[in-house]
Amino acid sequence: MSHSLDSPLYYPPAWVEAGATKFDWLEVMVKKTIKGKITIDRERCKGCQICIEVCPTNRIEVDKSLNKKGYYPARFKENVSEGEKGCTGCAQCATVCPEVAIEVYRAK
Ligand code: SF4
Ligand code: SF4
Repeated sequence: MSHSLDSPLYYPPAWVEAGATKFDWLEVMVKKTIKGKITIDRERCKGCQICIEVCPTNRIEVDKSLNKKGYYPARFKENVSEGEKGCTGCAQCATVCPEVAIEVYRAK
C-alpha cells in the first residue's frame, strides 16, 4: 500500500495490534530515505523532549509558547535549510512519544 502526505503513516500501538497497518510501518522503517513529515498535537504533548533526542535529522524543536497544560511542546521544523536533512518519515519520534502525540506522513 502506498502513502501520501494526506494520510497518517504511524498508528498508535493499539491500532497496530488491531491489524492492517503494521507492515506499512515496517516498510518505511527500512526505506529511511523516503521523505516525510510529522504533525504534533501540541495540546497532548508534555514537553518531555524524547522525540527531539531520537530524531536522526534534527527536525523537532521546543516551541516557544506554552500549551494549555503549561508545557513547552515539541514543534516540527518544516523548513529545511541548505545543508540540513529533511524528515525521512522514519517514525522514530512517534514510536517513542509516551503521549501518542505524533503522526507521521510519508511522500509518495
Ligand atoms: S519521522 Fe523520523 S525524521 Fe521525521 S521528525 Fe520523526 S524522527 Fe525525525
Ligand atoms: S515525545 Fe511526545 S510528549 Fe514528549 S516532547 Fe515529543 S511530542 Fe511531546
